[in-house]
Amino acid sequence: MSVHEIPEPESAAGFPGEPDGLQRLWTPHRMVYIGGEDRPKDASAAECPFCAAPQKTDEEGLIVARGEKVYAVLNLYPYNPGHLLICPYRHVADFTDLTLEEVSELSAFTKQAMRVVRAVSNADGFNIGMNQGAVAGAGIAAHLHQHVVPRWSGDANFLPIIARTKALPQVHGQIQELYSEAWKTE
Ligand SMILES: [Zn+2]
Repeated sequence: MSVHEIPEPESAAGFPGEPDGLQRLWTPHRMVYIGGEDRPKDASAAECPFCAAPQKTDEEGLIVARGEKVYAVLNLYPYNPGHLLICPYRHVADFTDLTLEEVSELSAFTKQAMRVVRAVSNADGFNIGMNQGAVAGAGIAAHLHQHVVPRWSGDANFLPIIARTKALPQVHGQIQELYSEAWKTE
């Protein structure tokens, strides 16, 4: 399908799990295909999207919450809708580089992210973790990030649709809003 065609809306009945905030916003047919132009040229902080994001507004940077040492941001290349990343502000690659304060807040943010994602989207489960090093699958290996990936029963059905090279800028803005609000109240 060409990105210029206006597709027929899909019925949410075919989506997995209970209807909820995320899935109403989840419109794979509107996927915008993004090429490699926004990949960092090197491993420096100047090229790093996780160093750049906190310098933008929450809306522009898709930031859900800001802590003292870490922040929560939507993944531009989600494995599943609502995929969050918890990042330290510091440009460090390895988990062993984190201070105790950073580890502590990263853990607290991971817990809060789970509460928020459950509240907004009734996730049935999560994949949580870090890829350490490019060889282990880290897309931005120079700046560590904890993945919080919501899972729903049956979501494997549409995982093939959500390739890592695709992104959903409009849907992202709406999810960012839902998560930011829930972060304050959950
Ligand atoms: Zn960085």
